[in-house]
Amino acid sequence: MGRGMVIIGAGECGGRAALTLRDLGYDGPVTLVGNEPHLPYERPPLSKDAMTGDAPLIKTIVSEATLAEKSIRHIHSVQAVAVDRMAHEVRLSDGSVLAYDKLLLATGSTPRRLPIPGLGPRCVTLRSFADALAIRPHLRAGSHIAIVGGGFIGLELAAAARKLSAAVTVIEAQPRILMRGVPAEIAEIIQDTHIGRGVEILCGEGIASIADDGKAVRVTLAGGGKITADLVVIGIGAVPETGLAAEAGLEIDNGIAVDERLQSSDPDIFAAGDCCSFPLAIYGDRRVRLEAWRNAQEQGALAAKNMLGAGAAHVAVPWFWSDQYGLSLQIAGLSDEGRSTVRRDLGDGAFILFHLAEDGRLVAASGIGPGNAVARDIRLAEMLIAKQARPAPEALGSPAVKLKSLLAA
Ligand SMILES: Cc1cc2nc3c(=O)[nH]c(=O)nc-3n(C[C@H](O)[C@H](O)[C@H](O)COP(=O)(O)OP(=O)(O)OC[C@H]3O[C@@H](n4cnc5c(N)ncnc54)[C@H](O)[C@@H]3O)c2cc1C
Repeated sequence: MGRGMVIIGAGECGGRAALTLRDLGYDGPVTLVGNEPHLPYERPPLSKDAMTGDAPLIKTIVSEATLAEKSIRHIHSVQAVAVDRMAHEVRLSDGSVLAYDKLLLATGSTPRRLPIPGLGPRCVTLRSFADALAIRPHLRAGSHIAIVGGGFIGLELAAAARKLSAAVTVIEAQPRILMRGVPAEIAEIIQDTHIGRGVEILCGEGIASIADDGKAVRVTLAGGGKITADLVVIGIGAVPETGLAAEAGLEIDNGIAVDERLQSSDPDIFAAGDCCSFPLAIYGDRRVRLEAWRNAQEQGALAAKNMLGAGAAHVAVPWFWSDQYGLSLQIAGLSDEGRSTVRRDLGDGAFILFHLAEDGRLVAASGIGPGNAVARDIRLAEMLIAKQARPAPEALGSPAVKLKSLLAA
């Protein structure tokens, strides 16, 4: 038996990778190292139904019993602090050392910091279960939550806070919310829904200063306005967790740079999930980094396969969803690759925007609607994108033409 497989980061991706190694029949040592005290758990519910109390606050991906049954050693509450590539060893914060044959870095991402002085204990971010626990008691009637950043996590949290009757102000520096990757037509619907539920949204508004005395936060806006909040949640995006990789001398390029097989600049070290950037063949090998649940799962599974020598390429179409109030948004592909859009109405206010490249290729589809209204067609759009299909715009726009028939063509 060799030294085995070591996975750093016991999140969505790391957890999936460990399970996949066993599913594929690997019988050497598998060690999963995480700096959180929990079993791998799902992050998406933290800003949605888990925050409102409609689901348990923590939903683990794998049980202790399954880890034991599959002989996966889970070391928790410990940070991996250094990788010795020559010796093939990882040093942990408790002083122990793990030897590896292949190493997977699945270290995720961390919330971007707001570069403003004055932040204190009532200025928080939402990434982990611990963060969610700290935020949740503040979401109640009589409480005022200021959310800095009109991105997905901030907006989902705004919806949860309104459900729990807290007052909410969203402060967005850009001219509109969801500026990154979401078409204006869809962002407008989301914005109107929030406003209809009583959320105050301030766009094009910077923050001049913040004063947090531990009981309340006074936010002064660049335009001179002032807000006093019980809690400020900063949701201005996330940065890849690359410290360990950079320290080890691995190539970094908006994340740990890996090839299409998720192999880093060291052939015995792989990286996957939020922490890595990789080339996507369907977009001419454009290097991307995705912060998305399904990508973390898919790449965790693929990394495991390739740690065992499969040499398979990541070819999946990016896919993301967000739920706010009863609305579900889904995006397949990279919409910024599109030069024109075609709208397809699905009834009940649901619709999909198909994004076409200059040469007519379908490169992305963005849909919004109540509940699961757009799920099926987005799934079919994904298959069309994967096929690099060039469907006729009139057919895409006509609900009478089944997307399945375009796939067959
Ligand atoms: C609140 C929230 C809501 C979300 N909602 C959606 C959604 O609706 N749809 C969607 O598609 N995606 C959503 N996401 C994104 C999705 O959850 C992430 O893309 C996914 O969790 C990434 O998985 P990962 O394993 O790469 O990283 P993570 O899940 O972040 O796991 C990485 C783990 O590694 C640990 N770690 C880092 N460095 C070290 C180290 N040196 N030593 C030991 N451990 C380390 C981290 O603490 C963490 O536990 C959401 C994320 C958040 C935070």
